[in-house]
Amino acid sequence: MIIRKRIDLEGIVQGVGFRPYVFRLATERKLAGVISNTSSGVTVEVEGSAEAVDEFVSRLPQEPPPLARIIQFEVAVIPCRGESDFRILPSRREQHVQTLISADVATCADCLAELFDPADRRYGYPFINCTNCGPRFTIVRDIPYDRPSTSMAEFRMCAECQSEYGDSRNRRFHAQPNACWCCGPQLELLDINGIRIECADPLAATAERIIAGQVAAVKGLGGFHLAADATNAEAVRRLRERKHRVEKPFAVMVPNLATAEGFCQIDPISRQLLTSMQRPIVLLPWKRPNAIAAGVAPGNNYLGLFLPYTPLHHLLFAETGARALVMTSANLSEEPIVIGNGEAVERLKPLADCLLVHNREILLRCDDSVMRVSAGRPRQLRRSRGFVPVPVFLHRAVPSILAVGGELKNTICLTKGKYAFLSQHIGDLENFESYRFFEEAIAHLRKILEIEPVVVAYDLHPDYFCTRWALEQQGMELVGVQHHHAHIASCMAEHHLEGRVIGFALDGTGYGTDGRIWGGEVMVAGYEDFHRAAHFDYVKLPGGAAAIREPWRMAVSYLAHHFGAECAGLDIPFVRGLDPRKLQLLLNMMERNLNSPLTSSCGRLFDAVAALAGVRQAVNYEAQAAIEFENAIAEPAGEDFYPLNIKLSDAGPWIIDTKPLFVELLDDLCRQVPVPIISAKFHQGLVEVFARIAQQIRERDQLNRVCLSGGTFQNRFLLERLQQRLSGLSFEVFAHSEVPAGDGGLSLGQALVAAHRPR
Ligand SMILES: [Zn+2]
Ligand SMILES: [Zn+2]
Repeated sequence: MIIRKRIDLEGIVQGVGFRPYVFRLATERKLAGVISNTSSGVTVEVEGSAEAVDEFVSRLPQEPPPLARIIQFEVAVIPCRGESDFRILPSRREQHVQTLISADVATCADCLAELFDPADRRYGYPFINCTNCGPRFTIVRDIPYDRPSTSMAEFRMCAECQSEYGDSRNRRFHAQPNACWCCGPQLELLDINGIRIECADPLAATAERIIAGQVAAVKGLGGFHLAADATNAEAVRRLRERKHRVEKPFAVMVPNLATAEGFCQIDPISRQLLTSMQRPIVLLPWKRPNAIAAGVAPGNNYLGLFLPYTPLHHLLFAETGARALVMTSANLSEEPIVIGNGEAVERLKPLADCLLVHNREILLRCDDSVMRVSAGRPRQLRRSRGFVPVPVFLHRAVPSILAVGGELKNTICLTKGKYAFLSQHIGDLENFESYRFFEEAIAHLRKILEIEPVVVAYDLHPDYFCTRWALEQQGMELVGVQHHHAHIASCMAEHHLEGRVIGFALDGTGYGTDGRIWGGEVMVAGYEDFHRAAHFDYVKLPGGAAAIREPWRMAVSYLAHHFGAECAGLDIPFVRGLDPRKLQLLLNMMERNLNSPLTSSCGRLFDAVAALAGVRQAVNYEAQAAIEFENAIAEPAGEDFYPLNIKLSDAGPWIIDTKPLFVELLDDLCRQVPVPIISAKFHQGLVEVFARIAQQIRERDQLNRVCLSGGTFQNRFLLERLQQRLSGLSFEVFAHSEVPAGDGGLSLGQALVAAHRPR
């Protein structure tokens, strides 16, 4: 019997080699029919024997091209047409196509084989790519995603490339960045003044300089990297000095997995992440001793490793023979990553010794993504290159919303239907360059995603630049969202939850509805609203931002809070180590309430305890004290914990009282209990008190689902222990994986809260 079926597919099915895939599948089975792009995906019609058609339908979703992602799949029986062949219908120009643009993809195995094959016409060509790999998001100027609307437009394909591009059976059929030595982008080596250095092979010349200990600025996929030999302590030191980056770890690229295994302990999930087509930086425990200079990640037990993801990277390793290269975003401290050649010469002059550039323009900056495995799952710390603009898939459609995120580690989010498009990492908006990038990213994403937002969602903090920007927007509904509510909503959205949950939102800073600085919040929340169920007792933040940079101030604040001014006489190493005048000054300042706002921040509690334990009195990057304090834990960590009190109340939120913790901590400090034990007891004290709070809320409100969100949950020990403890109590526990737990995931939650605001 001859039948005809129509299959409607939605998801990432355009520009990823889907049509040639379907063509092959149909012709192999001698089926007739057509395939065409539609406004929301692809439609396939096949006609033939019932057996062959059904076999085709079941095979279709099984082995799609690597970049494809099928979200919706619907099949219908339709009347036969008596066609005899299978045809790919061209996209009609006038037809409105809603395409999901793919993220940038690491060089595939086929291209890699050609790259190192002396007989191949693309042997050694640094821009080799195909339908399954190469740049996407970072070269898109406009939609539809076709060559003329990418930065490949100015390169006219040679006859050979053109024939590959036009051949539906070829791996490069409609590969928009398709190019070769004859017709594509080329490398160039520049000195720090932007003057071209004449050389036969710019790549080899750059490699020579790196081996000699120089820092090379290398133009990559989403921006420039600063590259230096990671095993050369002097080169690493120089890079650090020039970048004004005191201790924050550098990411290290290694040529292959085998080399990575030599430097770090790699679990099976991390191994998959390292070799995935997204190629994120993965945080891994160091193996010591090893050849990488200690200055790469001082005082840190983890090293951020990643593998080459462009042909240029592969060639650079082949040329240098290096085992490890520092590959850090080319920027000065917290500024956005550099993308333009001219911009590079201007901004990287103080940082690099030479620049390896090319003439394919990067249209969208996109930093490397950073991930880490904890509690047995991959966790996004910075969701950027390789993942953007692949949407987070929502469980139900929402209006078109623009959510502008938070002040630090900013991302924005645009929603459309069931898609939530999180932007790449934008950075800290207090920096002017980042703020410009923020505006650029909004405009560009709106254009290529074709989203006209009707609502703008923003954080309640009146001084955030993104909030001010939002409040200036005209013709759109404005919805303010409390910071920690957004965190919980973000976690709920990622897990497709509805209704109400118990939410733990733990981080450094977020503006509260009482005007105070929240950060240790337990909420009963849904998308619509939240109720503040419990929080850490308010303490003073002496000196505001200065107290964030100098954890010793928080230690003094907590001591004064619990033990009064007499704390100055405590006989513990921390107090003995302080300058008595500085201590008195700080106590006076708090006494007179000068520049000492109140905070319930969990991050600051970490700072205080880390400082008291002698881990760190001042930090050089965000959360450094907490990270080092967590790193201090030695497994097995035992079960001891510091006690914390819950002060129940019917009137307001319950208060988590830290006094018993500090009493016992002081006792331990007097007895010179080692830091690893203090750290473990502190972490486990939090786990215990949170577990008790969750049980109390469950009893009161009959809720059994717990969401964990906020930057503090990037702490692996805390996340693992708390998840374990809550699961042991039969709670359903949800933590972030696809979206960062920190402020990089905030915009998603803002969008979801705004979507549920009654209108
Ligand atoms: Zn390829
Ligand atoms: Zn060519």
